[in-house]
Amino acid sequence: MKQTIIFATGNAGKMREIRQIMEGADVELLSMKEAGIEADIVEDGKSFEENAVIKAKAVAQKTNHIVLADDSGLEIDYLNKEPGIYSARYLGEDTPYDVKNANLLERLKGVPEEKRTARFVCAIAAAMPDGEIFTTTGFIEGRIGHEIKGENGFGYDPIFYLPEYQCTSAQLSEEEKNAISHRGRALTAMREELGKRIEL
Ligand code: IMP
Repeated sequence: MKQTIIFATGNAGKMREIRQIMEGADVELLSMKEAGIEADIVEDGKSFEENAVIKAKAVAQKTNHIVLADDSGLEIDYLNKEPGIYSARYLGEDTPYDVKNANLLERLKGVPEEKRTARFVCAIAAAMPDGEIFTTTGFIEGRIGHEIKGENGFGYDPIFYLPEYQCTSAQLSEEEKNAISHRGRALTAMREELGKRIEL
C-alpha cells in the first residue's frame, strides 16, 4: 500500500528539496498545509535533534501517517556554536539577514582564517504510526567569510564560505547546494532509514 509521508514544514523550498530526494519512491509526500494540519509548536529543545523530534511528535498527534520534521542552523566554532538552534531567532525573528550576517561578520572581525570554522547542521526526525521515533543528521563544513557574497540560497548562505568551491553557498545554484547541503545529506540518510522500515 502506498504510504503517505507528511513533512512538517510550511517552507516551499524544503518541500521541493525533499521531493527531489524522494524521487522514484512510491510514496505520497504532503506538506502540513496539503495535509490540512495546523499545529502551533513550541520549539524548546536543547539540540537540533530534540527540536526536530518535538515538531514531528506534535504533528504526529494529528495524523496516522508518517511524519517528518527538520531543524537546522549554523554553528560558528569561534562563537561557541552560536547562533546554533537559535539561528532563525538570532537578533530577532524578523530582523533581515543582511543585518544578522553583518553582525556576525563584525563579531568575527580580525579572527584568523583557521578559527573561522563553521557548519550548517540539519536534523530530521521521523515519527512512525507505530510510535517509533528516529532521527538522521547532516552537516556541511565551511568557514565564515569576510563579506556578504552571493544572491542565491537564503539565511546565512552569503557569509558561509566553502573552501573547496571557493565561493559562498549563496553563490551556488539550488541544485549544486542541494547536492552537498546539510539538509540534502540528512534527507538522503532519512530515505535510507525509511527504506529499512517501509517499502519505498
Ligand atoms: P529552520 O530549520 O527552518 O528553523 O531554520 C533554521 C535557520 O537556520 C534558518 O532560518 C536559517 O537562519 C538557518 N539555516 C538553516 N539552513 C540554512 C541554509 O541552508 N542556508 C542558510 N541558512 C540556513
